[in-house]
Amino acid sequence: MHADIIPLSAGEKAVLADAIIEGEVVATQSFWKNNRIVSTLTIASETVAYQVELMGGAFEDMGSFCTGEMYLNTGAKGTFYLSGSHAEGWKPAYGVQSYEPQQRDVLTMGFDRSTVELSTDWAAGNGMEMLTITGTGFGAVQGNGYVTFETGGGYYDADAAANFNYTDWSNTSITVEIPQAQSNRVRIITNDGTTLESADSLHIRYNLDSEPFSPYGYTHLYNNYGDGSYLFHVNEAIFNEPERLEAVERTLDDFVCKTGVNFQLNETPTPLGWDLGDGQNTISFDTPDNPLSPGTVGYCNTLWWSCILGDVTFYVAGEIDVVLNANFDYDYGTGDLTDGNAKFAYVLMHELGHAMRLGHVNEWGESMYPSVTDWPSQNWFERDTISTNDRLGVSQAVDVASTFTFSACGISVMEPLDIDCEPVVEVAEVEEAALPAPYPNPFEDFINLPNAAAWTLLDITGKVVQRAPNTSTAIATEGLPAGCYLLRSEGIAEPRTYRMIKD
Ligand SMILES: [Zn+2]
Repeated sequence: MHADIIPLSAGEKAVLADAIIEGEVVATQSFWKNNRIVSTLTIASETVAYQVELMGGAFEDMGSFCTGEMYLNTGAKGTFYLSGSHAEGWKPAYGVQSYEPQQRDVLTMGFDRSTVELSTDWAAGNGMEMLTITGTGFGAVQGNGYVTFETGGGYYDADAAANFNYTDWSNTSITVEIPQAQSNRVRIITNDGTTLESADSLHIRYNLDSEPFSPYGYTHLYNNYGDGSYLFHVNEAIFNEPERLEAVERTLDDFVCKTGVNFQLNETPTPLGWDLGDGQNTISFDTPDNPLSPGTVGYCNTLWWSCILGDVTFYVAGEIDVVLNANFDYDYGTGDLTDGNAKFAYVLMHELGHAMRLGHVNEWGESMYPSVTDWPSQNWFERDTISTNDRLGVSQAVDVASTFTFSACGISVMEPLDIDCEPVVEVAEVEEAALPAPYPNPFEDFINLPNAAAWTLLDITGKVVQRAPNTSTAIATEGLPAGCYLLRSEGIAEPRTYRMIKD
């Protein structure tokens, strides 16, 4: 089951890569090639430097961005999986999964957490929200101190975190604007180098893409087609098959209905695909002569440009291409998934989420989680519609796109569609579970288990922590670190997964 990434193991990656190197990115460069923006990473290894070419890149006034590409800053250090050769040039073998960061952040335990409290448990990333952190020992002045958030590949480094918007810093309180982030504890590094960590995690409900070169701001949706909308062309391989086109229309209608986003479908098919820069917003399959990377189910690519008026630089998403991997046996319907199939509408929903300016989150069950597992929801009909947090995120993006006052270079606002709609996709009532829920939740030293099911306790990464046979009435949890767990019932007709918290 996939959103846009199929997680590959190190073994699977090794099979298909032409080179696996330990190295560090020492330079990055963007340039034009065949009328398209590309970039190179120079990766220094022990023996020789590798020039690795990426799709997309950024100039000051224009750039392109692909959700699945291995974009890294200089200083990124770790293992790289590459395909190609020194003669032909190198490319990432598996998109974003071609890089595994060196574990520089192994010290995840042991920071002083006792006194650090957050003003909220849930927030939006780059959603114009402020976080106030209270405690002691932050230092009277910020100096070289900073607050940092989980990025998904470790925490923001000192240079990146120095650019955050701090409105208050005292020994007992810090206020900072929340950038794009992933759910995890928030860290404070003080001017004297002490690291403090919040007692609780900050959960990120959605992320809005920021403008280029900044942790905040937006690359706006706008009036791209002249009638207040973005117009998407559907490639003929999808358009000409009624069940495929119907799945595209149904998925888009659900977004429009719930968020007002003004995305339209052209009434005739296009022969064009996902070549960013061909002048059309498209929804297409990949093709043998322009395939997606292995390990990738879909991409959303954005060509952005900027307009400068006075001291304002305004960024807009100029062309957006959504592409799905053609090499899957897709289920185009709704409801339960046929075994072994990927669900077309679900992948498309995720990619359209990107098109509507959403980034990834690491909260299970959200449509913008980059890969989809069976759990926490076994109920695939719930996935025929966007998750509640996505709805909030896209609604905010539409709000940003339809209320700005910038006017130059032909840029004007998107006109939201106010459709008084029935939910396009009926989400059935969640049936009462056959079993009572495990308790207590939050738990401490044990969890009581309703019997008749076998139970598996997993950590938030999906690693099995403990199993209990169907004869057990409780599971001992004394030695486990505090945090979020998943407890799954098995061996019964309707297995379920419960999100459990250890205090
Ligand atoms: Zn994605």
